[in-house]
Amino acid sequence: MTDAHAPHQSRGSRLMTGLRRGFRRKCPNCGKGFAFGGYLKLRSECDVCEHPIGEYRCDDAPPYFTIFLVGHIVVSGALAMEQSMSPSMTLQLVVWLPTTVVLCLGILPFVKGAVLGTQWAMGIKG
Ligand SMILES: [Zn+2]
Repeated sequence: MTDAHAPHQSRGSRLMTGLRRGFRRKCPNCGKGFAFGGYLKLRSECDVCEHPIGEYRCDDAPPYFTIFLVGHIVVSGALAMEQSMSPSMTLQLVVWLPTTVVLCLGILPFVKGAVLGTQWAMGIKG
């Protein structure tokens, strides 16, 4: 196992590196191997640098941040639609319920990668 970050790298720079690599769902340590073995399942270790990715536990942080982001998008969109068109409640539900589901499922893996990268940058395991 090698730590691919340079020893002179500042904490902020390391955080940005971890976020960038994690958001791309890559290993936060080397940026080359895949961090995920499935939709949300982390690999036990990187197939390139053998960094123990499976030791990081993201727990509830990715869903929390995903709900935070999607909530801002959906609520502002629903309010803007209400202000501009005054549609029926049925139309609002038909538009925004599927949008919420699609956005949550689409964003969650990338947010989880970013949380993984943050944990890597800060050395938070287990
Ligand atoms: Zn790696």
